[in-house]
Formats: sequence, C-alpha cells, structure tokens
Amino acid sequence: MPATARWIRTATRRRTITLLLFVGLLAITGAAGVRVDWRAYALMGAWIGFGLVAGPWATRPHAFGKRLHRYALTIAADVLLLGAIYFVLDAAAWLGAIFFTQSALVASATLSRRWRIGIAALIIVVYAALVLYAVGAGSFVQSPVDLPGIRGNWRYAIGQITATVGFISILMLLQSQILAMIRDTEQRYMMVVQSAADMIVTFDENGQFDSVNPATVEQSGYTFEELKAVPSSALFPPEDWPKVLATRKRTEAGETVTMDLRYLRKSGEVRWVQATSTPYRSADQHNAVLVIARDITTSKRLSDELRAREEGFRLIQDSVNVGFFTIDTSERFTTFLGRYARENPERTTALLGRKASETQPAEVAPVIRAANARALAGEDVAFEFTMTPFGQDTPHFFQTHLSPIRDEQGAIVGAAGVWTDMTESVTADRERDALRARVASAERMESLGNLVSGVAHELNNPLAAILNFTEDLLADKRPDEERIALEVIQAQALRSRTIVRDLLTFVRKGDRRQLKPATPGPILQTLVHGARPGLATQGVLFDDSISDVDTPLLLDRAGFEQVVTNLVTNAAQAAGAGGAVRLVARRDREAYVVVVEDNGAGIREEDFARIFEPFFTTKPTGQGVGLGLSVSLSIVEALGGTLHGENRSARSGGGARFTMKLPVATTAEGQSRAGAPAAVAAQAPIHEGPSNPMPPRLPSLLIIDDETAIRRALRRYFERKGWAVDEAHDGTAALVKLLRRDALVLYDVVLCDLKMPGVSGPELYRRLEAESPGMVRRLILSTGDVSAPDVADFLATVTVPVLEKPFELSALEKLAEQVRRETGEDRRARGSAVAPA
Ligand code: ADP
Repeated sequence: MPATARWIRTATRRRTITLLLFVGLLAITGAAGVRVDWRAYALMGAWIGFGLVAGPWATRPHAFGKRLHRYALTIAADVLLLGAIYFVLDAAAWLGAIFFTQSALVASATLSRRWRIGIAALIIVVYAALVLYAVGAGSFVQSPVDLPGIRGNWRYAIGQITATVGFISILMLLQSQILAMIRDTEQRYMMVVQSAADMIVTFDENGQFDSVNPATVEQSGYTFEELKAVPSSALFPPEDWPKVLATRKRTEAGETVTMDLRYLRKSGEVRWVQATSTPYRSADQHNAVLVIARDITTSKRLSDELRAREEGFRLIQDSVNVGFFTIDTSERFTTFLGRYARENPERTTALLGRKASETQPAEVAPVIRAANARALAGEDVAFEFTMTPFGQDTPHFFQTHLSPIRDEQGAIVGAAGVWTDMTESVTADRERDALRARVASAERMESLGNLVSGVAHELNNPLAAILNFTEDLLADKRPDEERIALEVIQAQALRSRTIVRDLLTFVRKGDRRQLKPATPGPILQTLVHGARPGLATQGVLFDDSISDVDTPLLLDRAGFEQVVTNLVTNAAQAAGAGGAVRLVARRDREAYVVVVEDNGAGIREEDFARIFEPFFTTKPTGQGVGLGLSVSLSIVEALGGTLHGENRSARSGGGARFTMKLPVATTAEGQSRAGAPAAVAAQAPIHEGPSNPMPPRLPSLLIIDDETAIRRALRRYFERKGWAVDEAHDGTAALVKLLRRDALVLYDVVLCDLKMPGVSGPELYRRLEAESPGMVRRLILSTGDVSAPDVADFLATVTVPVLEKPFELSALEKLAEQVRRETGEDRRARGSAVAPA
C-alpha cells in the first residue's frame, strides 16, 4: 500500500483521538465547575460524529487522487466546525489554536499544493475573523477559568493572528519538506515496483490480492480487479495447488520460501515462475505476504532441453559401442568415457595414469604407440587393430580415431581418441560377402545347370541307342571275345548314363520329387539283374539278399534306382577285380533299409567329412566326378530318409558300408507327402557278425603289356587258377590304376612288361618307387631282351623278380604266389588287412 494512503489513515485515527482527548478535557473542566455552554457539547458531538462517518468515507480504498480530495473536504469541514465551536465557546480559544494547527498540518501533509494553501488560508481567515470579532465587537460568555477578557485588546489580536500565520507557514513548510521526502521515496519505490520485470504482488491477511504491479497484469493477462475476483486455486494447475497452500502457510508462519512453480495465465497457458514469498507486517496488517515471482519458463525450457541433450549424449555414449579417452603428452590415460568405461569401471580406473601402449597386449602395443606419437605430433590419426579385450576370450576388431588436443596458445597438450568395436559390423560384412558369393555361385550354378541339362539331354539319346544295340547284340550267341567287348561297352554306357543322371539331379537339386506308393522288391530285383553282368566283367563278386519285398514305401522310383546304382557302382569300384560287393535290403521296424557293402579299401578317416560334398572324389580322372554320394544324399533326404557311410571292421574283411533308410509308408499317408523328414529309426548299424561275413578277396593280378594276345592268354590261365585279373595296355593306363590310393588293396601282384610305347616299364618302376614303394614290392618284371644294354643297366638297380620272355605260365604262377605270400605276410605283420598307401 502506498505510504501516503497509510499516512492518511494514521492521520484520521490521530484526529479522532485528539478529539476524544478534547472532549475529555471539557468534561474535566465541567466537573471542576467550569461553566460550559451546552451548545459546545452538541457541536463537539456533531463534530465527532462527522469525523466517524467522514473518515472512512474519505479514506476508503479509492484511487489515490479521489481519496485525497475527500480527505481535504473533511478537513475543510473540521475547520468550519471548529470555527463554530469558537463562536459558542470562547474559553476554548487557546485550545482551538491546537486544532487549527493540527488541521493545517494534516492538510499540508496530504493535500496537493493548491488545496493545502486553500485550507491554510481558510484556517487563517476563519481564525482571524474570530479573533477580530472577539476583540472588536462580539459579546462572549466570560472565560470559565477566569482568563482575562480580550475585548479591545488589538495588540493581542494582531499578535495572535500574526503568530498563527507564521506558525502555520513554518509548519506547513517543514511538513511539505518531509512530505516531499516521503513522496520521493514512495515514488522511487513505486517506480521500482511498477517497472519491475518480475511480478510483485502483496496479499492481505485473508490471502486476498492487495496490490499487484503492472508486470503481474501484463504477464498473467488478468487485470487487478479480475485477479481479485477469480478464486486463487484457478490460477494454478490443480496438482500444484496443495503446494501453493503449503507455501502460504509456511510464509504466514514467518518463513521466507523460494521455489519453482507453475501458474496459469488467463489464456490457460502454463508458465513456470521462481517465486519468493516473504511475510511482512504492515502498520495495519499482521499477516501480509509479499510475493516476487520471476517467469523462468524460457530458461526452464532451455535447461530442460539442455538436460535432455545431455541425456541424449549420455545415451549415445552408453548405447553405441564406443569409448572416448584422452591421453596426455606422455601417453598416459587421463579420461575414459562411454560404454566401455561404464561397463568396466574398475578396469578403466586402473588404466588412468598409465601409459596407453604399456597397458595393451603386446601384439597391438606398437600400433598404439605409433598412433599416439603421430597424434601428439599434431596429426589426425585413424587406425585399426584386432585384439582380445580385457575380460573376454574372443578377438575383437577395433577402429580408433585420435586427434591432438591443443591449449589456447595452440600447443599440443594431449590427444583425444574415440574407439569403436567394429566386430559385429565386420562379421556382418564378412557374412554379407559370403552370402553374395553364394548368390553369385548359385547364379553360376544355374547357368551351368542349364548348360549341363542341355548337354545331358543330348547325351541320353545316343546312350539309349548304344544300350539298346548292345543288349540286342548280346542276346545272340557270340564268341567270348565279342561278348566281353560288348559287355564292356554296355558297362561303360551304363556308367555314362549314371553320370548323366547324377549331373541332372545335381543341377536340379531344388526340384520337388513326385512320390508315389511303391514296393521296393521289384525295383531292386530289376536293378540287380541289370547290374550283374557289368560287375562280373569287372571281376567283382556280387551277392544280394532282398527281403520284405512288399514293404509299402512312398518313392520317386527313378531317384531310388539312382541312389542304389550309385552305391553299387561305388562299391564295385572300391572292391575292384577280385573284390566283393553285397546288397542287403530288408525292413527294420518302421524303416526299409538298403545296405551296400564291399571289401575294398574303405574310406579314409580324413575323407569321411567330405564324401557327401559335391565334386569330392578320390578317384583318378575318368573314374569319378564326385557327384554320386552328394546327389544320392539329396535324393534320400527328399524321400524323407537318411544315408550314412561307414567302414566295415578290419576283422570282417574291411571295406565300406553305405546304409540307406527310408520311412515305411503308413496307410494313412496320402500321396501328397513329399520329402517331409521322416521318423526313420536312429542310425543303428547293421550288426556285423559271423552271420554276414564278406567273402574273402580273390588273389588279384594286374597284367601290363601292350600285346593283346599275351594279356588274353595270361588272363585265361590265371582266371582258371582262381585269380581275379585286370589288364592295362600301356604304362600310362597302368599308372592310373596303380596310383589309386586303394591300389594296394586291389592288386596283389603286378606283371609288367619293360618294353612298351609311351611310359615304359623302367619309367613306371621309377614312378612307383617314388610314389608307391609298397607297390614296387608286388612287381614282377618281364622282358624279351635282358641283355640289351639299357635293360641290363636298369635291371642291375632293381630288387624285384624278373622273368625272361617267353616264360612258362606255371613259373609265373609260382612267382606270383610267392610275391603274394610275402606281401600278404607283410600286411599281416602290420596288423591290418587294409593297408592304403
Ligand atoms: P565318385 O564316386 O565320383 O568319386 P562319390 O560322391 O560317389 O563320387 O564318392 C565320393 C568319394 O567317396 C569317392 O571318391 C570315394 O573316396 C568315397 N567312396 C564312396 N564310396 C566308397 C566305397 N564304397 N568305398 C570307399 N570309398 C568310397
């Protein structure tokens, strides 16, 4: 509340008190026997009554100017009333001066200059008129306390009037100076409050708005009257209201409270303020509250944004696989930030103060040292390294960027680095590359597939023609030589057909197979029937046992035939001349099992993992393309079965065994089932035992001679004697056979002529010496001219038996038996029937 307004109130109160004192004084003088005219009492009463009504009327909280004018009017009324009292009560003359003075003081304190001078003049005029009247003419009641009469005392009149004028003038001067001071202070206070950017509000003891500054009106959007009219709770968000009430309570209890809170503008907008609420005691109010509030919405938003940004930065630091660090000029770590630091606080704390290159594994220390040196020399460095991070066991791939840190003068004071763990993305990159390569290979395969299937189809027709004609020719009776030749043609044509089929199957791997209900018996029997002659031509003993012929299966007939053909072909190739192959087919609970075994060299331990890979072969060129097993496996899997390869035990004759298991079809199974994985019984091996031993291998002989007639004669002789015979018509063909990795199993004895076109006998001997020493010991050399110098020189260096042509067949047989015995003992001595090179 402005100081002046307060001053007016105080003055009103003081005036009333003075009046009451005056009445008291009158009462006392009356009681002491002083005669007071009753009109004096009546006037006094009227005056007090007037004061009681006019005071509040004048000082009611109106605009300041209005209040002043009203108050001036009450003073003017006071002056007139006092004059009237003087008129009826001259004894009060001396007291009257006090009232006049008091009125003048009040007037000079509160009124504007014009009013002040007006009232002062009124007082002087009224007072002077009364004095002059009392001295000159009027007839007053005698002084009740025997004051001397003043009638005719003109000097008194002049003195009295002059003193009053002077007194009033001096007082008014002093008073107006004090007032100017007060006004000045008040103005300054008002100026501060009015121009303050903060909202300044006072509340009265009832919590009502008492005053507000323009900033409040401007910022809240409410006028002062509106503020007084709306309920306080409407000025705050409902959830903040209890907080406001609590603050008011604390302030009323004498505390100064500062806090951030929200309020609602008239528009409904929510604003943040920082408010200080202070208790104060005004002259007439005991629990008033002063609130100064500063709008902090913008800065709060900024700081919230900053906090959000900091939080974002922290999130980035934490979530990205990144670490930040700094080093000083001596390469010592000074800071760690980021995810690594958060996840390994102890490790990073331990690293602080230590040299970067000393704390890292030896394999990366030189890289780090070099990078640090470059960064500390002012360069931006990026480098990569692989290392196994502390506390982990797989190597990670890191990328680091280092930049120098400079002070204000530009001198280098250290380096800052960011390192990223790229392991995941590098791995992903590698996988992506691999995938791309696979896609490219698949594309290549597809075009290759188109080519292959084109060629294969072209080949099928001529092959069919060859097979038909040979079959036709074989149907007639023929001399042995022709028959054998025709059988060879047939076997080779069949082999070609198998290869063509495998190729087609391979390139059409993804194709769906049409499964139809079928029984295995007839298919297998036809197949075995067809394979027998070819196997016999190769000198392979073949045996089959097909049971449970009516087992219901869901088959793609061509695929099934292809698998069995492949297994039998492989087995025959492995068994070789003199070897044996057996096919056993039967039902085993819910599976139909086809086993193809041989007594060849078996599968080498290191090849097991690869035999089902496409194009994996251990056979010499021209003997295998490496597709048989991979294609067979894909077919069997499409039939819902399994294919499994293993070695037979040495005890039961060695060799390999392949087992195909196909699920037996249940009656409920529809025709549509295609390639669903079946509940094939686990891979229980077919038990080996005395009940199914393989027949022993026949003694085998390889004849290497360019003369057909000699080969034929030898073959006939040895076959009759129970040997299995294989032939090679020159050194090159012989080397192919002898350098097969299973040649030691296939050939017990090798008869080699020395003089041959192409690779000669001695040359073949040297190759074997170098590449298959075991085979050298099975050689029997034959020559027509032992004494030819080159032959003699060669023979001087060899330790194997030599037969001079022409030789007796029985002599050769004896020699062959001897070689076989010796190498056989050798084999036994080494404790294995199978002795691959
Ligand atoms: P290929 O017969 O054209 O070499 P396969 O895929 O049929 O191709 O066979 C792959 C390899 O598996 C053969 O090269 C051979 O090493 C091995 N293998 C297959 N069957 C037998 C078997 N019965 N005895 C020994 N090894 C075999």
